Amino acid sequence: MNSPLQPYACNPEHSRGRRYLQEAAPTRNEFQRDRDRVIHSSAFRRLVYKTQVFLNHEGDLFRTRLTHSLEVAQLGRSIARSLGLHEDLVEAIALAHDLGHTPFGHAGQDALNACLHQFAPDVEDPDGWCDPRTPHEPSGGFEHNLQSLRVVDELEQRYADFNGLNLCFETREGILKHCSRANALWLEGREPGGVGQRFLSGQSPSLEAQLANLADEIAYNAHDIDDGVRSGLLSLEQLQGLELFERHCLAVRQRYPALQGKRLLYESIRRMLTEQVYDVIASSRAALAAAGVQTLADVRAQPVLLHFSSDMRQQSSALKRFLMSHLYRHPQVMVQTERARQVVTELYLIYHQAPEELPQPADAAAPLSLCRRVADHIAGMTDRYAIREHTRLTGQSLFD
Ligand code: MG
Repeated sequence: MNSPLQPYACNPEHSRGRRYLQEAAPTRNEFQRDRDRVIHSSAFRRLVYKTQVFLNHEGDLFRTRLTHSLEVAQLGRSIARSLGLHEDLVEAIALAHDLGHTPFGHAGQDALNACLHQFAPDVEDPDGWCDPRTPHEPSGGFEHNLQSLRVVDELEQRYADFNGLNLCFETREGILKHCSRANALWLEGREPGGVGQRFLSGQSPSLEAQLANLADEIAYNAHDIDDGVRSGLLSLEQLQGLELFERHCLAVRQRYPALQGKRLLYESIRRMLTEQVYDVIASSRAALAAAGVQTLADVRAQPVLLHFSSDMRQQSSALKRFLMSHLYRHPQVMVQTERARQVVTELYLIYHQAPEELPQPADAAAPLSLCRRVADHIAGMTDRYAIREHTRLTGQSLFD
């Protein structure tokens, strides 16, 4: 059942605005414009060749960051409509939430983070290996949420008048799901009262931002099971020990005793997804009513109000733990993870020693340390581009 837009939802007519003033569009609200800007960005198109769990070349049917983002947007829109939240805003956040991800999923991100920490401009550097950090760049290390914000704020070059996509505050706030204190302070210095502030003041983000976050979790829990079984690394038998999956699988077996294999899996996952969506809607409605929120300001002053019931939270956590030990740390996945780490680390070191291999900075780009330029370049790569660059620069082919 759909609800009208609630008074505590974000409303594009009351948006806190864009960093650069732009006239209103004649036919679209401000959050629709943000969604459209994300879809037309080059970082969005690159998501199709970025890994979720399985490397892009391992099979055509595995999720990529692009299909993952579309699934998050679908789940988010569906729940938003039911709760009376702003669908276009949830969609814009969902489609943009992974724009800053490196190639090779978490393996690439961990490797880039380690490189930046080891060679960061913040670190005392007696050998003078690193040039100093400029005021235009975050502190040492790589945070993918912050990088997603950098993509939409700085790195996309589509407008004559400014760097980035100039998205609304509400969309940028949703993209910056987590942020270290050091980087929140840095953001606050550049944009007082902006998207870094809530990490310093302990306020909650909008319900639309909370929802995009939950939809992300629901989406990857379900599709990683699907991809895990499809790859042969997980078996239906292993999944039987998981309460959340087993309950639905049993019900499906009872209703369709002859059903086996993929259709049994898909029917069970489909029901599991639906149950999680209904659970979020029911528990969030109850939490909103109990908190008595009336306005967006009330929402910000409350703890996070969009959540699973405590039962479902436990089951979802058990599912995550299962995926961590049986899929993400599966020996076959770990082999690829190690290769990905090597590609990213070697690329980092090579570009650092040979900056002429980096693309020229755009005319209007802010001055950055070499470390950050290297990190931005690598983070923007697709899996296959990173593999090709690594082969070109080292002569090695790690993924053949
Ligand atoms: Mg995600």
